[in-house]
Amino acid sequence: MRLIFLGPPGAGKGTQARVLERRFGAAQISTGDILRRHRADGTDLGKQAEGYMQRGELVPDDVIIHMIVGELDQHPSGFIMDGFPRTVAQAEALDAMLTRKGWPIDAVVLFDADRATLISRLSARWSNPRSGRTYNSVTNPPKKAGIDDDDGGPLVQRVDDRPETVAKRLDVYDVQTRPLVDYYRKVGKLVEVDALQNVSDVAGQLLRSIRMEPAGH
Ligand code: AMP
Repeated sequence: MRLIFLGPPGAGKGTQARVLERRFGAAQISTGDILRRHRADGTDLGKQAEGYMQRGELVPDDVIIHMIVGELDQHPSGFIMDGFPRTVAQAEALDAMLTRKGWPIDAVVLFDADRATLISRLSARWSNPRSGRTYNSVTNPPKKAGIDDDDGGPLVQRVDDRPETVAKRLDVYDVQTRPLVDYYRKVGKLVEVDALQNVSDVAGQLLRSIRMEPAGH
């Protein structure tokens, strides 16, 4: 399984990538999670990315593309790209890498939702910085507030989920990433899911659209 998840922040890409990872063992490659790990570890890459991430801007293409080359090599049996590509230049670089490897993409899944929903989801988002698992304090809370169900450690609210930065990230998506919708539609790879549904309904629609069985059937 080789999938790309496309959509604005807060649309549920990470949540659905983890659903497919659990069910099919396809590795989630989340560029945001990888960058956050680099920042936590204080690597050069983390330091390079920090300012961009705090401002809600994209990390430069050459940095991200270099990072993804190493990631791809670790996943010969399949992956779900979550948060990459985010620009046309990144998409072209990915196409070239996959063509060289002879690894065609099965589908690009577009998650979309209106701006008000995305803003309210991001402001209610809590995440486990160790695993990347996320919760919504209103619609999908952990069993104990502020504590991860899996490892019992603390959950955090991302600094870039603050309202000012969220607005910037949504603008960046509209300008720099939304053109990828047409890019992938033209090559006939795009499928769309209604990201306003609850987690299990989105998963069901997603699995049907990529012709896998819905979860639990
Ligand atoms: P995310 O967790 O996917 O929302 O990503 C968090 C932040 O990491 C973004 O706001 C960007 O600053 C950076 N980032 C993640 N993926 C990319 C990418 N493919 N290209 C550029 N910047 C990225």
